[in-house]
Parts: sequence; structure tokens; C-alpha cells
Amino acid sequence: MNWCCSVFKQNYGDITKRGIGIVAFSRFDGRIGFKVKFVAVDKERQQELNTPMRVSLETTMGILRCPWCGVQLDQWYKEMPVAEHPSTGRADESG
Ligand SMILES: [Zn+2]
Repeated sequence: MNWCCSVFKQNYGDITKRGIGIVAFSRFDGRIGFKVKFVAVDKERQQELNTPMRVSLETTMGILRCPWCGVQLDQWYKEMPVAEHPSTGRADESG
């Protein structure tokens, strides 16, 4: 894999612990897309929360460029097979 930068590589992959990760998905047009994923609470402990307030435990936001080096991601990773990458558990997610 020819990563655009080491920081992107470090943060790439679906995350289950609280923190921030970059995930890939197939866009509606068949090209590769990327999202930043924010997880507020470790997945295995999310069921323990019991609050009347609405809380976003996980949030994603689409990105077009690498947040660290600025390359246009769909161009840089256009040869990357999304479904075959082991760390993209949500590769089929659309949008
Ligand atoms: Zn980069």
C-alpha cells in the first residue's frame, strides 16, 4: 500500500475503542470514499450507558482530502480495493 502519509496510515481502520479513525467505503458512483469516525465510548461498554439525554456515541463525517497532508483521497487511493482491506469493517456502508 502506498500511503499518502504516515499519520493517515496510523489512523486508518475501523475503530471500536473511543477515539478517532479513518474508514473507507464505496461511494454511490463506485469510487472510494473516506470518513473520519469519532467514537465517544468503547463499543463494548456503550450498552452500559443509561441517560435520558440524547448522546452521539459514534459520529462520522465524510472527507475529500487527507487531514494531515492534504492529498485528494479518492485520487490517491483510487486503486485501493475497499472491500478487500481488512480494516474496513464498514466498507459496504453508503453515503
Ligand atoms: Zn495523508
